[in-house]
Amino acid sequence: MDKYMEQSENYVLHTYNRFPAVFESGQGVYVKDTDGKEYLDFGAGIAVLGLGYHYPGFDEALKEQIDKIIHTSNLYYNVPLAAAAEKLVKASGMSRVFFTNSGTEAIEGAIKAARKYAHKQGEKPGYEIIAMNHSFHGRSVGALSVTGNAHYQEAFRPLMDGVRFADFNDLESVKAQISEKTCAILLETVQGEGGIYPADEAFLRGVRELCDKHDLLMILDEIQCGMGRCGSMFAWQQYGVQPDIMTCAKALGCGVPVGAFVLNERAASYSLVPGDHGTTYGGNPFACAAVSKVLDIFEQDNIVGHVCEIAPYLEEKLDALLAKYDCMTARRGKGLMQGVVIGNGVKVGDVVKACLANGLIVLSAGSDVLRIVPPLIIEKQHVDEMAQKIEKALGSLA
Ligand SMILES: *Cc1c(COP(=O)(O)O)cnc(C)c1O
Repeated sequence: MDKYMEQSENYVLHTYNRFPAVFESGQGVYVKDTDGKEYLDFGAGIAVLGLGYHYPGFDEALKEQIDKIIHTSNLYYNVPLAAAAEKLVKASGMSRVFFTNSGTEAIEGAIKAARKYAHKQGEKPGYEIIAMNHSFHGRSVGALSVTGNAHYQEAFRPLMDGVRFADFNDLESVKAQISEKTCAILLETVQGEGGIYPADEAFLRGVRELCDKHDLLMILDEIQCGMGRCGSMFAWQQYGVQPDIMTCAKALGCGVPVGAFVLNERAASYSLVPGDHGTTYGGNPFACAAVSKVLDIFEQDNIVGHVCEIAPYLEEKLDALLAKYDCMTARRGKGLMQGVVIGNGVKVGDVVKACLANGLIVLSAGSDVLRIVPPLIIEKQHVDEMAQKIEKALGSLA
């Protein structure tokens, strides 16, 4: 492994302090490094591998598409684009989709759609976007501008103009930021990177009401919490609200890089038109073959039903750990998107490292949260194994 790590450090721009593991292959919910050590993967490539590694039929669908055609450009139609678009629109109950290559680009598209929506309204050309403190929406200048984390923004100012921040789950603070200039309110249904904070039902409904009252677009970022992770295809479906625009990525392609922003009829009809937005790769047949197959698998194998079945067991096991260890002080989350707050003198980074050494991949979020976002196909035995490995890791820290 040392050889690959050294080679990487010599040639890859150093923007990540990586953990000392070189992963080479995976199967189901396990991954192996180049030394042959096996890990139980409860990080899923940052909530990407919803179906784990080599889900039956997935590789075959990708290979089949490679043998047909992998790229066409958006100057023409292609078969997987048509299929993936229809399936994603139907799964979300929304109207239209624009495929991107990443979550960040989905956010960029959503911001442009919101500004265009306001611009088209004529008399009231609002351009301001209200985003949330402790949010995460990506690293491009636009997405960074709506990311409520000063540390990520500092070196890159001036950022995009017209962004105001409010407190998540505090409707009054959102209200206080609304003005004649506002065009949209953007939030994650469950904040991920910020530390696993699910939106309160009253808050999300309140934001919807504010958007309706002031003719603003409600943009929900479902990049991490969507695609079944929280126990419904999209997390907002549990709240009795629908956004005007939602963003997807991460598990949308289950490992193939792809994102999307999806619009309802109102947002689609009064925003982007030919010439307003584009992408060379977005909607490419290879990426769309992945999306199309992922959505087929979700439906045929009732992946969301499985999440609802297994998630309470994960919560139960995490709560048992919480009761046993002083360094675990709280648990938050929805479905298979769980966070455990680490404190009392123990650093979450040390817990993550100790887990890795003990053959378990988990992530951190915020400054003190242990983030657990396993593939959606885990079974009880994997949850048991996770708990054992966390106990061993915490034992090694003591
Ligand atoms: C990961 C993430 C993004 C950015 O997605 P990329 O694919 O890394 O560009 C945006 N929003 C949320 C909520 C995310 O978790």
